[in-house]
Amino acid sequence: MNDKQIRFLEEARRNVKENKKLFNRLAKKKKIDDVFHALHKQVFAKTDCLTCGNCCRTTSPIFRDVDIERIAKHLGMRVADFTDKYLHMDEMSDWVLNSSPCSFLNLEDNSCNIYEVRPKACREYPHTDRKNMNQIMSLTFRNTLICPAVAEMAQSLKLTEG
Ligand code: SF4
Ligand code: SF4
Repeated sequence: MNDKQIRFLEEARRNVKENKKLFNRLAKKKKIDDVFHALHKQVFAKTDCLTCGNCCRTTSPIFRDVDIERIAKHLGMRVADFTDKYLHMDEMSDWVLNSSPCSFLNLEDNSCNIYEVRPKACREYPHTDRKNMNQIMSLTFRNTLICPAVAEMAQSLKLTEG
């Protein structure tokens, strides 16, 4: 992670209560997609995920059945062997990684060894360009503590949304 990314995460950790209130307020608003989508575009235009990799290092994506089938095929493995080796079911009955950092993360340069076939959840993380953003405000708040790009968005939101 570069210095700027570290600073954004540290700031989000210092402002947990304030950010939680902000995201709770935003959850009650109906039309926040445009604000988030503009911020997503702006922040990711200058974010280099390869200098960070914090999502892949600290959290697990959900692997849907279609993700598992696609990745197992790509690796030349049977689905059952793939799940036995890399995944377990969590308390919500979702398939998640056995280990953290992700087994497919190249720790040297934060690249993904299965990038072309990675799970949908990885492609969409941190979900700040989704429709109906007001429905995922608690997830987005939690991501301020993981993703420096979301932490940066929270800082901008505080200035514009108070
Ligand atoms: S599959 Fe790739 S993109 Fe997804 S968490 Fe693992 S390393 Fe990251
Ligand atoms: S999505 Fe966020 S946490 Fe993941 S690598 Fe990019 S900046 Fe880092």
